[in-house]
Amino acid sequence: MKIAVFGTGYVGLVVGTCFAESGNHVACVDVVEEKIEALKKGIIPIYEPGLEELVKRNVAEERLTFTTDRDKAVKDALIIFLAVGTPEDKDGSADLQYVLAAAKDIARAMNGYKIIVTKSTVPVGTAAKIRDAVKGVTDHQFDMVSNPEFLKEGTALDDFLKPDRVVIGTDDVRVGEIMKELYQPFVRTGKPILCMDIPSAELTKYASNAMLATRISFMNEIANLCERLGADVNRVREGMGSDSRIGFPFLFPGIGYGGSCFPKDVKAIIRSARELNYDLKVLDSVETVNAEQKKLLAKKVLDHYSGDVKGKTFALWGLSFKPQTDDMREAPSIEIINTLIDAGASINAFDPKSISVARSQLGDKVNFCEKNYDALNDADGLIIATEWNEFRHPDFEEIRKRLKDLVIFDGRNIYNGDKVRALGFTYYGIGVKQGK
Ligand code: NAD
Repeated sequence: MKIAVFGTGYVGLVVGTCFAESGNHVACVDVVEEKIEALKKGIIPIYEPGLEELVKRNVAEERLTFTTDRDKAVKDALIIFLAVGTPEDKDGSADLQYVLAAAKDIARAMNGYKIIVTKSTVPVGTAAKIRDAVKGVTDHQFDMVSNPEFLKEGTALDDFLKPDRVVIGTDDVRVGEIMKELYQPFVRTGKPILCMDIPSAELTKYASNAMLATRISFMNEIANLCERLGADVNRVREGMGSDSRIGFPFLFPGIGYGGSCFPKDVKAIIRSARELNYDLKVLDSVETVNAEQKKLLAKKVLDHYSGDVKGKTFALWGLSFKPQTDDMREAPSIEIINTLIDAGASINAFDPKSISVARSQLGDKVNFCEKNYDALNDADGLIIATEWNEFRHPDFEEIRKRLKDLVIFDGRNIYNGDKVRALGFTYYGIGVKQGK
């Protein structure tokens, strides 16, 4: 099939590449010329494991192209995906300006029947808004589809190529059949393609992210209770997760959810409901708990030093909002860094993949280090903000040699507190025994 994907970011690039991988001809479109020029030269603008190889192969086999020529991309395609950003607007709702601008670009370029698919996460009613916007520009026939994306950064290729399910919102059976055909190569193990009405498809994405965010905030509250009761959240998590009705995913306590999806999607669904005079009380609390949890690790640092960290330096390992990505959007590390710097401390930061993204956001106020152990030089304590695998089994002897004060603030519970204490460290985790 001939496909165009508008928006060549974390989602659009993966989606376009994976559709090319299954034999389709795909044009990935973006408005940022430097991004497209870089991609044409084989430079991948984001870190996503396995993506570079797949992009190169499909470009070489001439199924995948990158362009800023929106007009040609639309004219050549039957199916056009919208994968542009839907960031948080000032009032917490999803900002649809990029989606509607791209839809108008598509409408202006249409030369015949097209299927326009929203891949971006958009509130219920957006497909209808796009339909109106396109109709206002062109007389050509088209159908709208809502096809929300569930991939996770860090495992995006696997998630897209082997999805748990594909959700397709359409009010036309024939269009549903075309979409099913497109996705057939990815569901050969029997995973379902769920066809439904468009509003249900649009809401499925928000409801799914809201559920996952709820599990995280719930577990963070249980962890905070564990600390007060002298229980160990790791044991509680095992005990809970072993119940087949509960399961283990998304039960890890930490320093709050971040990233480009959960924070904005929880806000947007709350906002959508509020517009209908309905308060999503559970999700209001999920958000409040998360905002507090993001402050927790910096508070533990400040409390350890009785509120005075002036002149102290901290090594911070991990900047991205989770491992295996360079995405810094809403990363908890940002709040920790800003709080400690505002309190007069300095930060030596290391991350395996996100230093250049972090530098563009945080600038000179952070001392970025090339190696994780370099960050420990002249540092008082060590802070773990992202659970990259390479931090899990460090050389504690080396850490001990370099740190001035033997204290670790582990926001991801990657170390065993008792073992670390036996090596002479003071250890703070989340929902476990604190301190000496
Ligand atoms: P992103 O910011 O990485 O990429 C968006 C891209 O769209 C940018 O490259 C931007 O330049 C481009 N763009 C903006 N206006 C355009 C236009 N008129 N025409 C063509 N390109 C245009 O965003 P993302 O993380 O890929 O997210 C895209 C959408 O997918 C969002 O709605 C998001 O909520 C949703 N989503 C994201 C993830 C994720 O993990 N990142 C997962 C599922 C769904």
